[in-house]
Amino acid sequence: MENIIIKKVLIIGSGVMGSRIACYLSDVGLSVFLLDIIGNDKNRNSVVNSNLNKTIKSRPEPLLDKSIVHNITTGNIIDDINKIKDCDWIIEAVSEKENIKIGTIDGNLLNHKITFENDLVALNNLNYESNFTGISSDVHRLKKGEILYLGGVKIPSSKGLLGHSDGDVVLHAICDAILGASSNGDLGKYYPSSNKKWKNASSKLFLKNTLDLIKKENKQIKNIDVQIILQEPKLVNYLELIKENIGKLLNLNSENINVKVTSTDKLGLIGSGEGIGTLCAVNLIKL
Ligand SMILES: [Zn+2]
Repeated sequence: MENIIIKKVLIIGSGVMGSRIACYLSDVGLSVFLLDIIGNDKNRNSVVNSNLNKTIKSRPEPLLDKSIVHNITTGNIIDDINKIKDCDWIIEAVSEKENIKIGTIDGNLLNHKITFENDLVALNNLNYESNFTGISSDVHRLKKGEILYLGGVKIPSSKGLLGHSDGDVVLHAICDAILGASSNGDLGKYYPSSNKKWKNASSKLFLKNTLDLIKKENKQIKNIDVQIILQEPKLVNYLELIKENIGKLLNLNSENINVKVTSTDKLGLIGSGEGIGTLCAVNLIKL
């Protein structure tokens, strides 16, 4: 998915401005919810209806689809606000002349403020991207006799990676980059090596839990780039397998994944075959 599409908009204030914006947004095909905070719970419903109907009647053109404009005033303001928590946009259209006390509700930096007539022009371009980038690096020591897992794939080798878990440096780096992009800290926070529970655990479990975490936040991986840094073994015959497996674990198409490999030209600890490292960059989108 390239863009985040705005589908639901909450407008607070059903006066002249609020109702006009509601009609405008309905015309461009959005679900619009009108909420008014004037009056008491009993009469707010009729305030919204009468304001909206006045605006619709005064328009030179009829509203394309009046059913799109939902009056969500139920008679209880808390119920009203709970109903529209998942709106993509919240627009305040409350007149200062009303001399009412303004409260606050949770918003988003991407919400737009409509103040002047010209601000409505900005509503013509309702699609915007909401991207979050994360990076990571990880290195594990190689030891003779251990099993080598890279990206969840067992690679034939006389040496494998040491670690509190299965030492899969690729999956660790992927988890860390996802946690970074979603502002959730790092792997050590969730799976400290001091906790015996995670001894010899499969890194696939870490990845599954990390994906569950971002799913709850309505975030999804857009693309991922992985670079494995090692001297040996040669991975040329395994890169496609690793990529395929990462695709399965992340539920991503192959065009959204890249797995590449490099050496350090025999320099340093990785170059002398003492360990394997991985760098990872992840791009997340919020749905
Ligand atoms: Zn690690």
